Amino acid sequence: MIVKLKKGDILLLLIVLIAGISYFGLKLLYKDTGNKTVVISVNGKEYERVDMRNLSSEKLIHIELEEGRYIDIKADSKGAYVSDVVCPDKICQKTGVIDRVGQSIVCLPNKVQVFIEGNEKADVDGVSQ
Ligand SMILES: [Zn+2]
Repeated sequence: MIVKLKKGDILLLLIVLIAGISYFGLKLLYKDTGNKTVVISVNGKEYERVDMRNLSSEKLIHIELEEGRYIDIKADSKGAYVSDVVCPDKICQKTGVIDRVGQSIVCLPNKVQVFIEGNEKADVDGVSQ
């Protein structure tokens, strides 16, 4: 009896779990297109990722680089940009704000890349929301 009861509980738990996962999976795939993450990589290695939805105010990411150089990246719920940098060409700073999934800021001299990752596959697949 005890075993049967436990099996039933596990089954119920599994159903709830699967339903929950399906719900969130569908939500991520079809509804929540606002999920964007600012991913910063330095020297080809991931340095930091910031979930834009969780940013209530502007976040400053200050990265110390070699030989006293640095780059300041500011991110908020609307986008990300290079606010200050020690860089010979400053192309990264001139890029301005990126706010769409797939956009990126590249600082070649400092080997820093900032890009927005997300699940806005609707744009890529041509399936409108
Ligand atoms: Zn640069």
